[in-house]
Amino acid sequence: MSFDTLGLSAELLRAISEQGYSEPTPVQSNAIPVVLEGKDVLAGAQTGTGKTAGFTLPLLQRLSSSPADKGRRPVRALVLTPTRELAAQVAESVQTYGRHLPLKSAVIFGGVKINPQIEKLRRGVDILVATPGRLLDHVSQKTVDLSQVEILVLDEADRMLDMGFIHDIRKVMALLPDKHHRQTLLFSATFSNEIKQLANRLLDNPELIEV
Ligand code: AMP
Repeated sequence: MSFDTLGLSAELLRAISEQGYSEPTPVQSNAIPVVLEGKDVLAGAQTGTGKTAGFTLPLLQRLSSSPADKGRRPVRALVLTPTRELAAQVAESVQTYGRHLPLKSAVIFGGVKINPQIEKLRRGVDILVATPGRLLDHVSQKTVDLSQVEILVLDEADRMLDMGFIHDIRKVMALLPDKHHRQTLLFSATFSNEIKQLANRLLDNPELIEV
C-alpha cells in the first residue's frame, strides 16, 4: 500500500515524502479516503497509530480544494484535544503536512497569555487546534467565531470525557453549524457508553473505523 492511491494532492504527497513516510498506517489508509469523501468518521485508534496524520491530511486537502473567502477568513476546521501537549503536537502536524498549502493555522490552550492568541485569531485562521477551556475563554471574549466551521475533529474524545470536559464540549457544539451542516470526525481509544452517546449526538451516519 502506498500513499499515492489514497486520493491526496501532490502538495500533501510531497510533505509526506519529506517526512520520510513510505506507506500509510492502517488508520490512515482507512480514514483518509472516507474523510476525503466528506463522510463523518468514528475511529477507534490509540496514540502511536498515526491517527493525527489520518485526520490532518484529508482535512487539509478538503480545505485547500474549496478555498474560503480570503477577506474574512473564519475558522473552517476545529480540532479539539484534551491537553495542551496534544494540542501542540496536532498543531505541529498541521504545520508540517500543510507546509505547501496556503492555509493558516493556530493553536490555543490555557496556561499561557491569551493576548498573543487573540492577535493570531484576529489575523485570520483556517484551522484552529484548541483545548476546550481556553477555547471557551475566547468565545466569551468574542475573539473567535465558530459559526463557519466545516470540519470538527474530536481527538482522544475518551480522555476529554475522563477529564470532565463534557459540559465544555456541549457549549462549543452549540456554537457550530449542526451535524448535518459540518463534517465530524471522532477519535477515541475506548468506547464506553458515554462515548457512544456523544458519538450519536455529534455524528451524522458515521463510517466506523477500527484498527
Ligand atoms: P500519532 O499516532 O498520530 O501520534 O503518530 C505517531 C507517530 O507516527 C508520529 O511520530 C508520526 O510522525 C509517525 N507517523 C505517522 N504516520 C506515519 C507513517 N505513515 N509512516 C511512518 N511514521 C508515521
